[in-house]
Amino acid sequence: MKLHNFCAGPSILPQTVIDQSAKAIIELDHIGLSLLEISHRSNEFVAIIEESIDLVKSLLNVPEGYEVLFLQGGASMQFAMVPMNLLSVNGTAGIVGTGVWTSKAIKDGQCIGKFVEVASSEDKGFTYIPKGFKVDSHLDYLHIATNNTIYGTEWHQIPSFDLPLVADMSSNIFSRPIDVSKFGLIFAGAQKNLGAAGATLVIVKKDLLGKTGRKVPNMLDYTAHIKGQSLYNTPPVFAIYTCLLTLRWLKNLGGLAEMENRNQAKSELLYKEIDRNSLIYGVTEKEDRSRMNVTFRLQDEAMNESLSAFFAQRGIVNIEGHRSVGGFRASLYNALPIESVEVLVEALQSFEQSHQ
Ligand SMILES: *Cc1c(COP(=O)(O)O)cnc(C)c1O
Repeated sequence: MKLHNFCAGPSILPQTVIDQSAKAIIELDHIGLSLLEISHRSNEFVAIIEESIDLVKSLLNVPEGYEVLFLQGGASMQFAMVPMNLLSVNGTAGIVGTGVWTSKAIKDGQCIGKFVEVASSEDKGFTYIPKGFKVDSHLDYLHIATNNTIYGTEWHQIPSFDLPLVADMSSNIFSRPIDVSKFGLIFAGAQKNLGAAGATLVIVKKDLLGKTGRKVPNMLDYTAHIKGQSLYNTPPVFAIYTCLLTLRWLKNLGGLAEMENRNQAKSELLYKEIDRNSLIYGVTEKEDRSRMNVTFRLQDEAMNESLSAFFAQRGIVNIEGHRSVGGFRASLYNALPIESVEVLVEALQSFEQSHQ
């Protein structure tokens, strides 16, 4: 049976990326050796990382003055690395609380320096994106998460702020065009929309660096990684290769404008069914609904297990909500074909009919 993988992360990758990376583990591009047994400083790997960085720059239209890095430690390590590099010793950073990932960023950030929450949607269970709040321009920077993977909310408009904006884009990077010049720093763990777990993409505006008055160990210092062109130490070679293959796939399909069309079509199809179906309801404010992670719940939660079983019979897998919130969550990342969403919508319709 064909499986429809709605996993939130690590998540579905294009089949061609799986096939080509499997091949590269056996032998990379007819060089007689596996990708896993060559030096990260070999011509072959240097070409891989350079092409990856170039593709990130061209797909996102990264302006002059920004550096693209492939690091390790996941998005979670950035919760500490960002303040180490951008928060001055006596300064304060702001953050907009939109769920677990910003709470973790506050907690870890407070090990480094001062943080204030400038707005939060915790009052309604993080089901919306705060709007119209004021931000003190004396803050060193403002941290937001552009897509909230667990709750299913997304910033569809990024307001202009009078200070550097740091964005955790782990779960919606490359899902739509963005204006990189609005951001001082963007980071994303690879395993949601880019490649295998192990690599973390960072895009940073260079003139923000070197101003904190704090000493930072090399591995946690963006400047060291910039100087080393992401080869300061041994990078996660396999994960980076899968990112390269996904970036090539994105480019061949027409880039981020095409991705946005597809993601819009997929998410609209599913939200339409959620709003129509009498057994389920959407969890989040309509205007803040995520295109990447669609959350919904049964009116009668006693039926949760029977809906899960109903999905499993149809090859619909990994669709249960995050363990902290329950319900259901369909992650519609770039690589998920619209056919899988059609199968899900049909399943929801049949489930409703079978309960009439
Ligand atoms: C998954 C996720 C993270 C954590 O990523 P790791 O790479 O596991 O550290 C952080 N932020 C967001 C928005 C996420 O979706």
